[in-house]
Amino acid sequence: MSDQNHSLDFLGAYCPLPLSHSDQIVIGHGSGGRLTHDLIEKVFANHLRNPFLERKDDGAILPSVDQEFEIVVSTDSHVVSPIFFPGGDIGKLAVCGTINDIAVMGAKPLYLTAGFILEEGLRVDVLEYVVSSMEKAAEEAGVLIVAGDTKVVERGKGDGIYINTSGFGIRHKSLDIGGGNVKAGDHIILSGSIGEHGVSVLQARGELGFSSAVQSDVCPLNHLIASALEAGNRENGNAIHAMRDPTRGGLATTLNEIAQQSNIGIWIEEAAIPISQTVLSVCEMLGFDPLYVANEGKCIFFIDPQRSDRVLDAIRSHPYGTQAAIIGQVVSDHPKKVLLKTTMGSTRLIDMLSGEMLPRIC
Ligand code: MG
Repeated sequence: MSDQNHSLDFLGAYCPLPLSHSDQIVIGHGSGGRLTHDLIEKVFANHLRNPFLERKDDGAILPSVDQEFEIVVSTDSHVVSPIFFPGGDIGKLAVCGTINDIAVMGAKPLYLTAGFILEEGLRVDVLEYVVSSMEKAAEEAGVLIVAGDTKVVERGKGDGIYINTSGFGIRHKSLDIGGGNVKAGDHIILSGSIGEHGVSVLQARGELGFSSAVQSDVCPLNHLIASALEAGNRENGNAIHAMRDPTRGGLATTLNEIAQQSNIGIWIEEAAIPISQTVLSVCEMLGFDPLYVANEGKCIFFIDPQRSDRVLDAIRSHPYGTQAAIIGQVVSDHPKKVLLKTTMGSTRLIDMLSGEMLPRIC
């Protein structure tokens, strides 16, 4: 295989840039020397400039946190293949994935770090596009990328680009939100339709065998979650007991995680789960169960039933939550099990995903 073919592999058919003779990443870009500095100036500083990065020290000094808050940290590596897919790319995914993990903890995400592993031969214009996607997503979420690193591996030893992001957020000490806090009676809200990210990556891989209009749902959920929290906790108490983003393993796997962590049972109604007709048809054709297909812009909320309508209204009034719905309820019988009432009226046990259905999805 020629180098050109190799590089097209990880770019896929959805690369928005024209084929060009752009500069390429060379081993020296990871040397820490002049080439590294040039790359930082041309690509990273150009898009991500802020006072933390401008200090050019080995680490960022973050402002101290008020006594009323705790620090929430999360990290995630991104290896999606190909790196461009309908609705997004690895840069947007790397920023949103970590922001969403911080946000579902009930925290306000503030800072990210980004570690890049680049393969020799990667086009510099492709890297710059990915970094500009990170810039846009971080700006939308209101977070700053305050530290970063770049390493280069030899041609054929990577897959174009891998990105690790770590995130830091603050959470008020009065909040008590976690997968172990769910209570019998809680309503379960899903913020929107399932399966779009997984289907969009399959589309980018050319595995559908036809063209679908599905776009990845990848987006930063922190503002949507902040308004849900505001609605849930207004006046008194912590109405939202847990939140989680159903990414790899899909809705089914996430619900099972919560059922185990809280030792409760879960009932969901198939008819209430938002899903687009296209995702449904694609899944039927390929033999996938959409309950297990990855999402990158959805959140599941477990809420005191007294407050669920108010929280649902808040979620629906956000652009990323217009299709939100109550999809089920937490029960005290059948602990650690998730049961689905199908559209046919029968009951189905929904297990955790076993093995990997779609590798390299995020
Ligand atoms: Mg998560």
